[in-house]
Amino acid sequence: MFKTIYFIGLITIFGIRLWYRWRARNNEIVVSRSSPLEIALLALGFVGMVLVPNVYVFSPLLAFADYSLPEWAGWLGTAVFAAALWLLWRSHADLGRNWSQTLEVRKGHQLITSGVYKRIRHPMYAAFLLWGLALPLLLHNWIAGWSHLVAFLPLYFLRVPREEQLMHEQFGEAYHAYMERAGRVLPRVFQK
Ligand code: SAH
Repeated sequence: MFKTIYFIGLITIFGIRLWYRWRARNNEIVVSRSSPLEIALLALGFVGMVLVPNVYVFSPLLAFADYSLPEWAGWLGTAVFAAALWLLWRSHADLGRNWSQTLEVRKGHQLITSGVYKRIRHPMYAAFLLWGLALPLLLHNWIAGWSHLVAFLPLYFLRVPREEQLMHEQFGEAYHAYMERAGRVLPRVFQK
């Protein structure tokens, strides 16, 4: 049951990503900062976030590492996963043609500070974190449930400072002021 819910969610995520990738296809890239390390981490991300969970869903190979949880935990996971999907969709909708999978600046790149970007600077990464938190509740397996977070966290910690540096170079004081207003993945409780 929860494996099916996971899989439907994953297909939805692919749909959202493909649609926005297609929309940004002609939007020229003017600065690219992706490094070999980042490409390697993106590949690791694919293994941890897509490959391993699906090996678990479609084969018995990882069943030796199963654990059991009460049914409510699965429904909690479903709710967290739904929140992740919503946030992923909204961040794509708000970022629009400025989105890139790697560190890039596009022609006519605009700084987005509204919608889900109003209170947090990284709603898309927050969605990936929520997705990673939902998985151990949906896929009751020590490997498939946790591989997403194991793969995503190094990418997150490498990417965010470099991305903020790039945005700061592009948008200067406007990005600085935005950093003061908005938190990274959690809204600021106290304004700086
Ligand atoms: N970190 C953001 C965006 C992820 S997509 C999030 O988690 O929602 C990555 C690309 O988005 C980067 O290449 C960068 O150029 C761009 N970007 C990041 N923050 C932005 C912002 N506030 N406005 C416009 N583009 C942004």
